[in-house]
Amino acid sequence: MPDIPADAEARRAVPPVICYPNDTLPPVDLALYRAAREGARKVDEVLVPPRDAGSFRVGAGQFFRISSIDGAQVGDLNLWNVHDLSERFYSGKTRALHGTHLSVGERMWSSFPTLRPMATIIEDTLSWYGIDEYGGSVHDVIGTRCDPYTHNLLSGGQYHHCCHSNLTRALADATGMTLAEAEPHVHDVLNVFMCTGFTRDTGQYFMKASPVRPGDYLEFFAEIDLLGALSACPGGDCSSEHSSDAAACYPLLVEVFAPEEGALRGWSQPEVNGYDRSHGR
Ligand SMILES: [Zn+2]
Repeated sequence: MPDIPADAEARRAVPPVICYPNDTLPPVDLALYRAAREGARKVDEVLVPPRDAGSFRVGAGQFFRISSIDGAQVGDLNLWNVHDLSERFYSGKTRALHGTHLSVGERMWSSFPTLRPMATIIEDTLSWYGIDEYGGSVHDVIGTRCDPYTHNLLSGGQYHHCCHSNLTRALADATGMTLAEAEPHVHDVLNVFMCTGFTRDTGQYFMKASPVRPGDYLEFFAEIDLLGALSACPGGDCSSEHSSDAAACYPLLVEVFAPEEGALRGWSQPEVNGYDRSHGR
């Protein structure tokens, strides 16, 4: 243990500054999105079985809703640009821009070099939850996805229905890729309905029973043409354990809606990021 400096308390008392003040982000026209959603009709739906994943396609300017149906269940969401899988959801930068948990008006941002909105959250029936006394909140971008490698590292054994494997199979089935080809495209997720935080004393990632109930949903506007994959996590409501078949698990429903012609007048797909990529040379 190093010596504690005389001014330790003064150093600790320095107030924090926000790393990325986000008031210069492109504005979100929620009123336009919601008005377009009013007249939208359902064009597709996918039922994601428990401990498995499903995929879906959503055109730019369409909407998708993820719903809890039979019981409290957490979902792990991956998004790709359907035309170029190298453009995919960037959990870390989304967290840096919006915070640890996402809700209405916030966006899922894509990887470098595009770094643009892929989807915007327009409705969240769990937005009432806020931040609880443990520092927990819902729909996080701090977790990764449960995976068989970490499970093997910590517990040994082979478990094949972690979200990582579920997403890998779903992407392979959606694209015709082999599992080996699909796996590197699977990335850190938006943990839909999951309630998580960091312990104040040890800084460890924690989860607790999701407050989601059948009928709750999270709804998105697709800013670009998307391929999505959603895993119904083997952890169920994530109140105890994951990476096993022990928890009660339920399906999740994904529905896709198309707005009426002309309902998005004034909206256009976000351009790719404006950095010129010369990196100083
Ligand atoms: Zn999982």
